[in-house]
Amino acid sequence: MTSTVPALVTPSAGAPFARASVERRDVGEHDVLIDIAYAGICHSDIHQAREEWGASIFPMVPGHEIAGVVREVGAGVTRHAVGDRVGVGCFVDSCRACAPCLAGEEQFCERGNVPTYNGRGADGSPTYGGYATQIVVDESYVLRIPEGIALDVAAPLLCAGITTYSPLRHWGAGPGTKVAVVGMGGLGHLAVKIAHALGAEVTVLSHTLSKKDDGLRFGADHYETGDRDTLRRLRGTFDLIVNTVSADLPVDAYLRTLALDGTMVFVGAPENKQQFSAFSLIGGRRRLAGSNIGGIRETQEMLDFCAEHGIGAEIETITADDVDKAYDRVVASDVRYRFVIDTATIPA
Ligand code: NAP
Ligand code: ZN
Ligand code: ZN
Repeated sequence: MTSTVPALVTPSAGAPFARASVERRDVGEHDVLIDIAYAGICHSDIHQAREEWGASIFPMVPGHEIAGVVREVGAGVTRHAVGDRVGVGCFVDSCRACAPCLAGEEQFCERGNVPTYNGRGADGSPTYGGYATQIVVDESYVLRIPEGIALDVAAPLLCAGITTYSPLRHWGAGPGTKVAVVGMGGLGHLAVKIAHALGAEVTVLSHTLSKKDDGLRFGADHYETGDRDTLRRLRGTFDLIVNTVSADLPVDAYLRTLALDGTMVFVGAPENKQQFSAFSLIGGRRRLAGSNIGGIRETQEMLDFCAEHGIGAEIETITADDVDKAYDRVVASDVRYRFVIDTATIPA
């Protein structure tokens, strides 16, 4: 049994979005039915809707930065109640039995987690994401949004927030550490806010100085461009670099800005292969690493941390008619700093 709900659908790679409907399963024993209020637009939505990461499943309803309110719960639900403010991030299920799942790191599920969209559930049916008015999700994959954060600025935390919080915590950003954030878009601006709140000294490396005032307002101590001369001047500086850039980067030049034992983490997922020289690592016992969103437990920790520190995303709220235009603006780095769809504008 299913029901249909209004959604924004793209029928094929790169095709414009259209209003249509999408099927949601009936609320099962452990399910939560959520009235979606806002859905953030992540650059990963664009990569997948345009098939920049390989084949996608179409028709597609993207959206994995979901904030809303619980409308209905299954008989066995204990974690959430009708009326609760909740969020859903990048995955909606996992095997729950492998070592990463048992460790609360479901993003690394050995059998593959079930992505919120562009994936398939345990029964093989495609998943559809948050550019819609409602979604049904197992309660174990639904987060609590603390009272202190409004739903619109909370939505982007469900991907951009956790994707930056997790590596910052994993590699120990805090007092006495120097952190560089490369690229100040959706992920980058939250990385700046969170790293600052954790107590690190924060430098933004952007390809333009046009967002400098904003960066300093978000808590950056320094704001530089990532040109060759600047990167040469900054050699040996950073304990941690969080790279959020969605495009190609001169990786060696960035690696050399790491201090001894420093780590450069890729969270940005460019379409092309990136290159680096082993000497850029050898010279300072440096590490090149990657990080993938975060588990459910850490996502809840991040939301609580953001509420405690007054952190939300900087957003531009758009209607269902503006999504194609917003995609082009994200790709052109013309986003300040996350587009959020008001899902009330989706029904025809
Ligand atoms: P975004 O809002 O578009 O931000 C990316 C930033 O990268 C831009 O604001 C820009 O910052 C910089 N940039 C973009 N194109 C550039 C170019 N050609 N040259 C130099 N810099 C450029 O995207 P996002 O939503 O933050 O996502 C960023 C990346 O992370 C995407 O690849 C996305 O798929 C990936 N992602 C990964 C995970 C994960 O779990 N690992 C999770 C979510 C997203 P400046 O203008 O400041 O230079
Ligand atoms: Zn995302
Ligand atoms: Zn698993």
